[in-house]
Amino acid sequence: RFAYVNGQFVRHGEAAVHIEDRGYQLADGVYEVWAVFDGKLVDAEGHFARLWRSLDELRIAHPMSEAALTLVLREAVRRNKVREGLVYLQVTRGVARRDHAFPNPAVPPSVVITAKSIDRAATNAKAEKGGSVISVPENRWGRCDIKSIGLLPNALAKQAARERGAVEAWFVDDMGLVTEGASSNAWIVDAEGTLRTRDTNANILRGVTRSTLLEVIREAGLPISEKPFTIAEAQAAKEAFITGAGSLVTPIVQVDGVKLGDGQAGPVAMKLRRAYIARAREKAV
Ligand code: PLP
Repeated sequence: RFAYVNGQFVRHGEAAVHIEDRGYQLADGVYEVWAVFDGKLVDAEGHFARLWRSLDELRIAHPMSEAALTLVLREAVRRNKVREGLVYLQVTRGVARRDHAFPNPAVPPSVVITAKSIDRAATNAKAEKGGSVISVPENRWGRCDIKSIGLLPNALAKQAARERGAVEAWFVDDMGLVTEGASSNAWIVDAEGTLRTRDTNANILRGVTRSTLLEVIREAGLPISEKPFTIAEAQAAKEAFITGAGSLVTPIVQVDGVKLGDGQAGPVAMKLRRAYIARAREKAV
């Protein structure tokens, strides 16, 4: 395997950044993840748009143009022989003697890219069975719209889920409403049959998969409401699912130990999974 580190492809096992990198010391950086279908980038534009926005919000310089970055991401995919998988990009504020405030003068941002293969047949089979989620109290900072590498609450939430045999943890705010998952957006098909996912004015990440799926849903004319829901509503829902570059559209069959309906992956979720994958494959670049 190969990784891209600041302008060069190096052997994955030997890839390294400096110990004074602000990403390493202060989580002062952002990341993006693209799904790879047929060796191509899925929802490329949406992920780039969010990357530039995350960097701008944190006043980190753009390390290169979108065209140049696209070439490097594709090269990472090619060198690692990825047909189906994920590409990871991380940009930090760079290497400087430790100080909370930004380095002055500014230093070049650090760029790291890795790519890995995924067994798509196995993840499809898993999705068909569906997974469970647990709820955890929302304890993240107020800028979850930025795709920051500061992921400790997400890591702890995901570990809690793993220890209870769940695939995801849903954060619940102090109004009792689900914000999103540790690494995905949260959806239900409510008791009335309406698709529901939280609006992005809330403190959540604006999922690119979420946006694309909203287009698919609107084109199909399915009832949709960007209204938040509680855990009780999710437990009483017909179906639930999560979306993300990693999970794509993955059915949820149990919420905090309560089975949804017959406990099988829901038909709407499975239909949307297939529709999303078909569209993403067609539009991948
Ligand atoms: N919410 C969080 C906290 C995430 O880390 C992710 C990442 O996958 C998502 C939502 C889904 O975003 P996307 O669909 O852009 O991958």
